[in-house]
Amino acid sequence: MSLFKEAIKQIPKKPVTIKYPFEPGIIPPGLRGLPIWDMNKCILCVLCQNACPVSAIKMIPKGPDAGIVYDLSRCIFCAECADACPKKAITITDKFELATTSKSELIFHYKKSQ
Ligand code: SF4
Ligand code: SF4
Repeated sequence: MSLFKEAIKQIPKKPVTIKYPFEPGIIPPGLRGLPIWDMNKCILCVLCQNACPVSAIKMIPKGPDAGIVYDLSRCIFCAECADACPKKAITITDKFELATTSKSELIFHYKKSQ
């Protein structure tokens, strides 16, 4: 088929692309986005910190700040932390629009006492 005929054939068809970010993005099943911690389930066992290949997780074992500090700027969304957690305290969400202009918004402090 000539290029011209092929072009004519495509005219009435809808585009396969979307106008993201002006339209919502298509989230494929199983997308690994932002991990979140449920501190009601967490027992501060340190296994997620040890499993993280990029040191994005730091556990604070004691004191008023005891809990998990997660650094989104380091995270590679591998889900190793969630797989390692014996209490299923980490959920890998499908949140992927995580850009920010503020570095402090990339640090999440999940306190055990909250
Ligand atoms: S998803 Fe991977 S890189 Fe991100 S915090 Fe968990 S183990 Fe670390
Ligand atoms: S592996 Fe699970 S229970 Fe252990 S510190 Fe991490 S989130 Fe808490």
